[in-house]
Amino acid sequence: MSSEGAFDRFSTTVDAAAAIAGLRDAALLERIKTPERIHEVSIPIVRDDGSEAIFTGYRVQHSSARGPYKGGIRYHPNVTLDEVKALAGWMSVKTAVVDIPLGGGKGGITVDPRRLSKRELEALTRSYMERIWRVIGPQIDIPAPDVNTNSQTMDWLADEYARLSKGNAPGVVTGKSIAHGGSAGRDTATAQGGFEVLHAALGAAGENIHDTTVAIQGFGNAGANAAVLLSAAGARVVAVSDSTAAVAVPGGLPVAELVAYKSKGGSFADLPDYDLKPADEPLHAEADILVPAALEGQITAANADRVKARWILELANGPTTPEADAMLERRRVQVLPDILANAGGVVVSYYEWVQNLHSEKWLREEVEARLAVTMRRAYERVAELATFKRASYRLAAYVIAIERIAAALKAQGQEGRIVLGR
Ligand code: NAD
Repeated sequence: MSSEGAFDRFSTTVDAAAAIAGLRDAALLERIKTPERIHEVSIPIVRDDGSEAIFTGYRVQHSSARGPYKGGIRYHPNVTLDEVKALAGWMSVKTAVVDIPLGGGKGGITVDPRRLSKRELEALTRSYMERIWRVIGPQIDIPAPDVNTNSQTMDWLADEYARLSKGNAPGVVTGKSIAHGGSAGRDTATAQGGFEVLHAALGAAGENIHDTTVAIQGFGNAGANAAVLLSAAGARVVAVSDSTAAVAVPGGLPVAELVAYKSKGGSFADLPDYDLKPADEPLHAEADILVPAALEGQITAANADRVKARWILELANGPTTPEADAMLERRRVQVLPDILANAGGVVVSYYEWVQNLHSEKWLREEVEARLAVTMRRAYERVAELATFKRASYRLAAYVIAIERIAAALKAQGQEGRIVLGR
């Protein structure tokens, strides 16, 4: 890990992009970087054995310049305020780079969800909503799933919000189950969005997905769905990992089998018939494309020189530190940055929100077709600017995002008055 915290890394990248954009208004730049509001909450629950436990949770409302705050909720033992602030900042630039009318926020609870029963997890989720419901809402702040949270978690949150606010408001969270107002295509959206970006970038370089080999770190919503889409397109998935172990087969892994194994709750460390490797193996695997799809701060100055891939598709948020980024750039490894590559999830979350607000139900094909257009348009704008400014895709994406956020802040006007977040 880099010595810098995740939020400092976010700030460093915004500063570098501001220099390229020629944004010299220091006060405006500070407003673009600084969270508008931070909520820290204590979350009490009654354990199955009757004892009481208290967990710490956060909701960071980073920017509402372009619309209501939007961003997932993470359950993980390493969740810290610094991490949630960074994740919230990345959401603000992500919604801006794909140009959807939303801002950025993020939430998290410091907890190891594997140590809680299903009843305890439901209690934790409802108790968290009890703490934050007054400061969120369909026109204020709209949470969604992230690491270790899923459609079941979102259904509990929506139900608890309806109970507390005494009204049905499905648009208060996205990533719900279809039965509870979720959108078709949300489950695969992050992977599909990444696939569209990769397809366009490889195409521009005269390459094709079906001739490639792929290594994937993390085999949850983002990573496993990416494995399915990439192998369906003819790529050979040669290495994958979860938090317990990696499996690697140069001839290609049986993706459908591994997905079925994980969906039953299995860990790769318990997989029979495989030569198991350490969980970071995919980062250094012999493959054309590396897909980090686990957590932030994985590709660092300490291991960037061992990356063999020519392309990196960042489905995880913040997987590459700025030092590693510079090393990869020197070696001409093409990094398709998180705020573009994994934006498919928030784009379809936006579609879910629109459907909820208008009591509509869109077909999966409709959702996928709209997503493909949005992602390709965003990629093209980023690629164009990267060429024009001779900048990395990452910095080009940040330039586009901060210019849009700056324009929204300026358009609010109100000369001389600091305009507070919604
Ligand atoms: P998830 O909980 O569904 O899956 C995470 C996976 O990563 C699991 O397989 C876990 O075992 C694995 N993992 C954790 N630590 C690891 C390690 N050290 N080495 C190898 N594997 C490890 O989470 P997800 O929703 O797929 O999210 C993964 C990443 O993608 C996160 O950075 C998240 O912020 C980002 N992301 C997710 C979405 C989404 O819609 N789910 C959208 C945008 C970005």
